[in-house]
Amino acid sequence: MYNSTVDKKCSVSSAQAIAQGISDDGGLFVPSEIPAYSAADFEALKSLNYQGRAKKILGDFLTDFSKEEIDECVDLAYTAEKFEIENPTQIASRTFCGDKINILELWHGPTSAFKDMALQILPHLLTKSFKKTYDGKEAVILVATSGDTGKAALEGFKDVPGTKMIVFYPENGVSPMQKHQMNVQLGENLNVCAIKGNFDDAQTCVKNIFTNSEIKAKLEENNMIFSSANSINWGRLLPQIVYYISAYCDLMSKGVVKYPEKINIVVPTGNFGNILAAYYAYKMGIPVNKFICASNSNNVLTEFIETGIYNKNRMFFTTNSPSMDILVSSNLERLLYHLSQNDDTKIKGYMQSLKQSGSYEIDAEMKAELQKLFFGGYCDDKATKETIAKMFSEDNYLLDTHTAVAVNVYHQYIEKTNDSSTPVILASTASPYKFSKSVLEAISPDDAKIENEFKMIDRLNEITKVHVPKPLDEIKTMKPRFNNVTEIEKMPEYVLGHLGL
Ligand SMILES: *Cc1c(COP(=O)(O)O)cnc(C)c1O
Repeated sequence: MYNSTVDKKCSVSSAQAIAQGISDDGGLFVPSEIPAYSAADFEALKSLNYQGRAKKILGDFLTDFSKEEIDECVDLAYTAEKFEIENPTQIASRTFCGDKINILELWHGPTSAFKDMALQILPHLLTKSFKKTYDGKEAVILVATSGDTGKAALEGFKDVPGTKMIVFYPENGVSPMQKHQMNVQLGENLNVCAIKGNFDDAQTCVKNIFTNSEIKAKLEENNMIFSSANSINWGRLLPQIVYYISAYCDLMSKGVVKYPEKINIVVPTGNFGNILAAYYAYKMGIPVNKFICASNSNNVLTEFIETGIYNKNRMFFTTNSPSMDILVSSNLERLLYHLSQNDDTKIKGYMQSLKQSGSYEIDAEMKAELQKLFFGGYCDDKATKETIAKMFSEDNYLLDTHTAVAVNVYHQYIEKTNDSSTPVILASTASPYKFSKSVLEAISPDDAKIENEFKMIDRLNEITKVHVPKPLDEIKTMKPRFNNVTEIEKMPEYVLGHLGL
């Protein structure tokens, strides 16, 4: 069963948790029990491929799904066609400043960023959850995006039966490449539309449409129901646990670690989803020494780990690692719940305080627990670029900006603690080609002046000889399929019109 972080008496099945996304009381769903794996379980997992490991782990959490249902979800999501390599994730063992780093590449999916790992499987988990809870009603998913999530969600929901999706993006608020990626999207059940406004406008209006009772009634009459694909859905978090357990198994196979030898895990962090998945993997039994939480100049988490005070009242920076430009890391709420030994009253208080004053302070016990497990650090745009340049010149390995933040903070960790002997897994969250301009600025500043983003990709490839992921290469020649634009006030009409209501 799954409980709400702010009221643990609220208890729902996994299908209900996924179908609903967020609890009615505003809390997030957390598993009431976490499966624990033994040495024998790890041996057994080690002998399976990625898909086999995913089936085992998902099955242990989604106990109201049949084995056939889980198998189907996994088999539809992690195909060789969608992921360029046989194993959807792969480990590159590299060195930085003389220290060995096992880089867990999570970006071999259809949009070249790690969000594919969850968004390729979420639609299947969602439609099966809908069958169990909402009697097979068609799911209508609305997404407001500032860029990357929109494309990953579109690719995930492409031609998935029983779903329709509309993605709204700010007309002047995404990069030309991101706009192109979304507007060339194929899939009969999908639609993309620019809005005359910024990201906040798009997000606010989508929220209003979700809760508009007139629109909801119209959908009901037509056997449809709204749903969301955002990153607090348990169906997005769970698939991310798989790759940490899988990576530990891979390190065992490679002889890098011997169970139960401990590892460090470094994650470039924004909404705290990816690093929280690593924490769940630890709760399930992978031996972890430290979680290293890497932030950019929006260093609210670094400060939190250091002081126990979360304070979002601060300057917001637009950085060259934009997917981490976040001041409220929603998934942190789940970690707090577990660190407090499931004290829902305490969590409710912290979240109210965050809403009212923009900050809260955890108690001494929780802070001690937090600091025992987590190390926080951050770096700015300049250090990010220096890290990209250094890694490339030292080891001929090209980092994207987000992963570079993680490498930089890991190096800071070693300098502070002298712990360079614990084997490390560092999550790499995007292909460098997704952020070609910033990567070029790091290794060949003159070339970053090129106007067209596709030419930047070509130039970066010329200089580095690093393979360009097929999905980014392919869309170069594709013609846009969508060119919709709407005023903010007309978004509700747009949704109904598109649904034919
Ligand atoms: C979303 C994203 C992140 C941040 O992940 P969280 O789970 O939100 O912490 C980091 N890097 C990239 C490239 C992303 O797209």
